[in-house]
Amino acid sequence: MLDLQGAGRNGGRRMTVTSRPWLRLGIIPLLVVAMAVAIACADGDDEPSDTDNVRVLASLEIFADMASNVGGDRATVAALLPSGADVHTYELPPSRVADVARADIIFLNGLALEEQAGEIARTNASGPVIELTERLPVIDGNPHLWLDAGLAARYVERIRDELTNIDPDGRTVYEANAAAYLEELESLDLEMERTISTIPAKDRRLVTFHDAFVYLAQRYGLEIVAVVAPSPGQEPSARDIGELSDAIEGVPAVFKEPQFNAAVLELVAEEQGVQVLNLLSDAYVDGVSTYVQLMRFNMNQLVEGLGGD
Ligand SMILES: [Zn+2]
Repeated sequence: MLDLQGAGRNGGRRMTVTSRPWLRLGIIPLLVVAMAVAIACADGDDEPSDTDNVRVLASLEIFADMASNVGGDRATVAALLPSGADVHTYELPPSRVADVARADIIFLNGLALEEQAGEIARTNASGPVIELTERLPVIDGNPHLWLDAGLAARYVERIRDELTNIDPDGRTVYEANAAAYLEELESLDLEMERTISTIPAKDRRLVTFHDAFVYLAQRYGLEIVAVVAPSPGQEPSARDIGELSDAIEGVPAVFKEPQFNAAVLELVAEEQGVQVLNLLSDAYVDGVSTYVQLMRFNMNQLVEGLGGD
């Protein structure tokens, strides 16, 4: 499926060579030949050609975006998990197993972020399956390292190195693409650091829906004071809600995440007269379709909610 473009081009080229004897027999046999060639190519055209892109799968759209930035024209990149899913609990349907088997390389976050999808990838992959958090500094097993732009840069370097491993001819392309993108991430990181530092120190406190922001908090000088759902897929207990209510007292804003039902957080916040804004973690939202946009969205929501310039 991912190979349709390449197959189409090969099919077209071959048709001009092989179709001459059929010309006088009319248009229908010609179409049959074209279709047969296209199907044969799509089924496994292993002839090397410069139109054969590296087929990349990444668990989250966020990592797919990073891989697209590095892979450029040499890679066809898709995300395994659909937009807006709760990635912690999402179960990959059996219909995606064929895509997994066809991919040349698969990028996962690891640390059980995409537990079931990761298992399917490891079981069915024909190429390498790379965990992007491998060898990075992990806090308490928390998987959300990419929400620190400095650590996101480490993901990008790993993607560059692994793409180069499976496609050495692309080395200079991957290096140039990664260098440009890493520069963009460095500017983003500095901008976030500078902007979030304008929030008054006493208000640099985070109440979020799920426990996704430890790395962001550590990098940009915020303190996590409460998390509504301590574990993925878990509903807060009455005691959790009591503790949440205490924690919210005096914070300027709390943050929900669009992929989760935040009714409890909204209720407690309303009781305390605290405004509720959004932070993005594992998934995009309307108007946000890249990692850099996601981080800028978060920066703006933090400043809007907690004060700052
Ligand atoms: Zn998460």
